[in-house]
Amino acid sequence: MSETEADGPKRRGKPLAQALRRLAGQTRSRRVAQTNSADDAVAAPPEDPSRGTERRFGGRGLYPGVAIGPVGFAEEEPTLVAARTLQPSETGAELVRLDEAVQRSLRQIEKLKARLAFLSDDSQAEIAPLLDAYRQMLGPSRLLRNVRGRIVERKQNAETAVMAEAESLAQLLTPLVPAAPAVWASGDSGPGADLEDVEAGQRRAEEVREIGRRLIRNLARAPFRSFSNLAPGTVLVTEQLRPADAALIDPARIAAVVMDDGGTADHTAIMLRALGIPAVLGVVGFAARARAGERVVVNGERGSVVLDPSPATLAAAEREVAAYARERQRLARLRTLPATLSGGEAVELQANLELPAELPLIAQAGAAGIGLLRTEFLFINAERMPDEAVQEAAYRGVVDAMGGDCTTIRLLDWGGEKQSDVLTAAGVAAGGDDVNPALGLRGLRLLLAHPEVMETQLAAILRVSAAGPVRIMLPMVTVPSELRAAREIYERVVRRMRRRGVRLPETLPLLGVMVETPAAALGAGTLGLDAEFLSIGTNDLTMYTLAVDRASNSVAPLYDPLHPAVLHLIGHATDAALRLRRPISVCGEMAGNPLVVPLLMGMGLRSFSMSASAIPRVKQVVRQASLDECRRLARRVMEESDPAEVSRLLTEFAAR
Ligand code: PEP
Ligand code: MG
Repeated sequence: MSETEADGPKRRGKPLAQALRRLAGQTRSRRVAQTNSADDAVAAPPEDPSRGTERRFGGRGLYPGVAIGPVGFAEEEPTLVAARTLQPSETGAELVRLDEAVQRSLRQIEKLKARLAFLSDDSQAEIAPLLDAYRQMLGPSRLLRNVRGRIVERKQNAETAVMAEAESLAQLLTPLVPAAPAVWASGDSGPGADLEDVEAGQRRAEEVREIGRRLIRNLARAPFRSFSNLAPGTVLVTEQLRPADAALIDPARIAAVVMDDGGTADHTAIMLRALGIPAVLGVVGFAARARAGERVVVNGERGSVVLDPSPATLAAAEREVAAYARERQRLARLRTLPATLSGGEAVELQANLELPAELPLIAQAGAAGIGLLRTEFLFINAERMPDEAVQEAAYRGVVDAMGGDCTTIRLLDWGGEKQSDVLTAAGVAAGGDDVNPALGLRGLRLLLAHPEVMETQLAAILRVSAAGPVRIMLPMVTVPSELRAAREIYERVVRRMRRRGVRLPETLPLLGVMVETPAAALGAGTLGLDAEFLSIGTNDLTMYTLAVDRASNSVAPLYDPLHPAVLHLIGHATDAALRLRRPISVCGEMAGNPLVVPLLMGMGLRSFSMSASAIPRVKQVVRQASLDECRRLARRVMEESDPAEVSRLLTEFAAR
């Protein structure tokens, strides 16, 4: 077995992200003359001449804080290709693996294509044909035909076959211009015959290599980004980040993140918020305009980004950095004070945990336990499925760190906008043939379809349940029968473990549900009969209620958790749980929004779980509010039909 870099330094080409940037950069001078292209609207020219050459951009602020630093771009790391000779019996599975990587690559290209609309006409005209060429190569192309041939006839593993075939086609294209063969289309009379010069041939060769690299990355399930090249204090600028990439960010190195893409409630955003990094999302066209090393000021509260700030802007930003540091110190003093309303009523403020790296932040924030442990972190960048022992060790670490406070462990919630790597490899992928993955086999549906995954997870949780209070939460429930089926599996695992002599506590972990679909919210009265607790997941609840993808940039302005339809569903679920005397909490991003928490308290909610970094500000709001005024606010808000008016009422309340 030998290992080769799929993109060695000599022939390292421009990955698509860089190509987009390069292409956009080439058209920059032409774009400057235009005043009405979509992406020019992003950068407001400085009105004040003393601002010099600074350029201002706007997006959606994700996490409060101001950072000043040099722009840095994430590099794609070379992927190591291990050459292997297949057994004849393995070729079928290898072809399936190849097809999955092709589908995944196609989805990525489609996503990039959807974002083209935000660029100027010139940039679109240059980039669109490139993406089309990529798409064609991932169709019934000569490239893929030959790769399949290498797998079946030469018994090469898929990575080797892709690398060898992409290189051989690239070589063929480079010297044979203009009579190069067509490699893209199924018929062999494609655009190869139109190649005009050597440069065009080299470009085509590079495109073949680029698509080869993409396929190999998707075969190897390698993360697309590496942040190791970035100096401490860098502002990471990127078009897009997968949650798996965001999980690799070290908050001690990255001062802030500015991203072209992204919704404020998608899992990348949740991850960034959890890491406490000031971030601005949805800054369309920014990555194409920024240059590595250029100084940038990022305000995660206002959602503003300033490139090449003037001395006056810089001085103001430095004052804000100092003010945030002072605020953090002041809020830190709240840590040991109780979360009680001004009349003394207790409120529970817990933390959401996405990554074990957050545990120290949770302790610092003074959280009363963990209200949502997203167990996806165990699977997200894993090379193999975490077995019972691996999971047990991870859960034990968290439960021990909670020192007697409760940990609510949510069973694996895969699917939707989360892309599964290790689960795909294990044949447990969600959304494989779902046209709308968010409406397909995700969350509890996926677990019930693969009870072995659920059983392993339940067994690992049960093993740590004697170490401290633990609850088990089911994601994405829509009907009571799903909960009943999950409970049967739970009881089966308990019986099996007891039979095998594993000592389990007398009182087993409670089994509860997430209320994150309109069906669960409206059916909370029935679900609550079987569920021992409920937790409202406002992120998905908003998405499913409003039919707005939480990860989408193009419909992001419509993603509004303050829409009265969402609020009424929250109200309905809360009333139902309170009537049944079932504990109910909120664990979506809404729970960490200090503007919204008084409304939720007025609706009867007393338990909130949020990113640790949000706890101090929420605690401050809780301690300053009275139950009566929260109830009055809720009555007033629930009469409204306009989300903008709801927002105004909440802002007015905060300023009272
Ligand atoms: C939610 O949907 O609100 C939630 C908390 O779950 P996740 O964000 O992990 O989907
Ligand atoms: Mg959810």
